[in-house]
Amino acid sequence: MDCIFCKIVEGSIPSQKVFENDSVLAFRDIQPAAPVHILIIPKKHIPTMNDVADEDAELVAELFAAARQIAKEQGIAESGYRLINNVNSDGGQVVYHLHIHLLGGEKLGGLLPKSGS
Ligand code: AMP
Repeated sequence: MDCIFCKIVEGSIPSQKVFENDSVLAFRDIQPAAPVHILIIPKKHIPTMNDVADEDAELVAELFAAARQIAKEQGIAESGYRLINNVNSDGGQVVYHLHIHLLGGEKLGGLLPKSGS
């Protein structure tokens, strides 16, 4: 399959891994948008959040468990961090293999429009 993140899972494309278990891999984003910018992915190829099936519930929970552990290990659990999942074109998704961005290590700018504005 021609998927860059599947190739990272296989090891045919190198990555800076920060976490791995049987079903989840996390590695540093190649173009970091913050001092800590890590991508957390399922090893199984799921293109987007729209393709997550009911049977993937445990896997999705594992992605968030990995995020909690990594944030702690990176020393940003208390200062704070942001988890982002981009979906399809309007969401800004570029790589069509489900991933959560974990961003932190500085005060992150506002992302959502303030209510009433
Ligand atoms: P998204 O826009 O949500 O699909 O994000 C894809 C992310 O993957 C971007 O932040 C890219 O910088 C990152 N990326 C693309 N190729 C690689 C790679 N080989 N290693 C690490 N991160 C990558």
